[in-house]
Amino acid sequence: MMTRREALKTTALAAACATVLPSATAQPAAPVTMPAPAAGGPFTLPPLSYLYDALEPHIDAQTMRIHHDKHHQAYVTNLNAAVAGNADLEKKSVEDLLKDLTALPEAVRAKIQNNGGGHYNHSLFWQMMAKGAGGEPKGELAAAIDKKFKDFAGFKTELTTAATGRFGSGWAWLVLGPDKQLAIESTANQDSPISAGKNVLLGIDVWEHAYYLKYQNLRADYIKAWFNVVNWDFVADRYGKLMA
Ligand code: MN
Repeated sequence: MMTRREALKTTALAAACATVLPSATAQPAAPVTMPAPAAGGPFTLPPLSYLYDALEPHIDAQTMRIHHDKHHQAYVTNLNAAVAGNADLEKKSVEDLLKDLTALPEAVRAKIQNNGGGHYNHSLFWQMMAKGAGGEPKGELAAAIDKKFKDFAGFKTELTTAATGRFGSGWAWLVLGPDKQLAIESTANQDSPISAGKNVLLGIDVWEHAYYLKYQNLRADYIKAWFNVVNWDFVADRYGKLMA
C-alpha cells in the first residue's frame, strides 16, 4: 500500500516530469488539460491473495513482506514515474508496454524495461505460489511437460539448472513460445519473456531479495524449497487459456 506521503511525493514527481519533459512541443502554461493520474499513476501494487506467512516454512513471512510491499512497490512507483506526462504510455497496459520495447521513447525505454518488467513479473510470481501447494501438475499441462522434458523430474532438473545458473539477478522460466511449445529459459534483471514474444507460464525469482534473509548465499536450497509452493492450478489454468 502506498502511504499518503509516498503518493504525494510521486504525484509531485509526476507533475515535475510533466512540466519538464515535453519541451520539444511547447505547451501553453495553462490550462492543464491532461487528467491527473489517480494516486500516483496508472499502475498499482496488486495485493497478495494470501497472508505473508502462508508460504512458510519454504518462503518466510519477512521476505514476503519486504519483497511484495517494498520491492514490488518500488517497481510500480518507478514505472508510474517513467510513464508520467506521456498520455500514450499512461493508458497502455504493462503487457503492451513490454511487448515492444523498441516502440518506447528512448528516454524511458530502460526504465520501463526494468520497472515494467519488475511489475509484470512479480504480479505473476505471487499467483504462481500458494499455501499448501507444490506437488506436480495434472491434465494437459502434465502431458505437455512429460512430452517435452520426458517426465516431471526432467522438467524440474532443467528449471533448476536455469535458475541456479543465472549469474547475478534474474529469473528462470517455463514459457510457451509463439509455436505453442514449452521451453525453459532464464532472463537477466527484470527482463520478461513477453518482450521476446513468449508467454510466461511459471517463473522463479532468483534475485537475492527473494531468498537472502532465510537462505543467505544458498540459492540452490531456496530453489529446492520453492517447488513446494508452486501453484500448479494457476499454471495449468494459464496454459489452458493460452492454448485455447
Ligand atoms: Mn523479486
